[in-house]
Amino acid sequence: MQQNVLKVSGLKIAYGGIQAVKGIDLEVNQGELVTLIGANGAGKTTTLKAITGTLPQCRVEGQIIYGGEPVQGMNSFKLVQRGLAMVPEGRGVFTRMSIHENLLMGAYLRDDKDGIAADVDKWFGIFPRLKERRDQLAGTLSGGEQQMLAMARALMCHPKLLLLDEPSMGLSPIMVEKIFEVVRTVSAQGVTILLVEQNAKLALQAAHRGYVMDSGLITMHGKGQDMLDDPKVRAAYLGEA
Ligand code: ATP
Repeated sequence: MQQNVLKVSGLKIAYGGIQAVKGIDLEVNQGELVTLIGANGAGKTTTLKAITGTLPQCRVEGQIIYGGEPVQGMNSFKLVQRGLAMVPEGRGVFTRMSIHENLLMGAYLRDDKDGIAADVDKWFGIFPRLKERRDQLAGTLSGGEQQMLAMARALMCHPKLLLLDEPSMGLSPIMVEKIFEVVRTVSAQGVTILLVEQNAKLALQAAHRGYVMDSGLITMHGKGQDMLDDPKVRAAYLGEA
């Protein structure tokens, strides 16, 4: 039987008078790559923030179960300790540290020196662009390379769930392809991923399952390939008549 890593039920979030999320259900099972797609302002980032405990003051209803326990209201530090890793929009790498130092920062909760060194080698193997630039300051990397570094850094803590917020944002088409290739490779390593994306086509191609969010509601969900074949998804999100 598939095991839930994350289960969100009846989640509602309001910023003052604005109801940004209007009662959504979604789940991510062990080893799955699940994507949440939708237009600007649909409520995707707000949903991710609720999961990671980083929402500003606002009204939250419903339930978020992560790793078998209710976590709404739990602070983000505790969630990180429980293996929840978030790569935010805009990435947030330590620009004045080298690539290698950034990776080590990702392992700050660990003290197994040999294991950390083995993981640095492992992720450098999967992200060769980072390996070539190992001692370069992270601030000198291109946007796509910084995205890769943010992902590799998050993976250094062996996350139970990796949350990616718009990893393709602001990147050139070639770099977007590369990032999706990396997301697939990381998923193939068995990492459980929730991917928030506006690039619906690439996200659904990569994902096992997808959810469409529109104006605070989940309007469709299903297997990635089935959604790609769905005429409503094609018309609304893939730019096809
Ligand atoms: P985008 O891709 O543009 O980030 P999104 O689907 O992630 O879109 P959200 O950022 O979650 O959408 O925004 C959902 C709604 O909540 C929007 O109407 C937005 O204006 C509103 N909102 C988001 N953050 C706040 C905030 N801190 N205070 C008030 N309203 C907010």
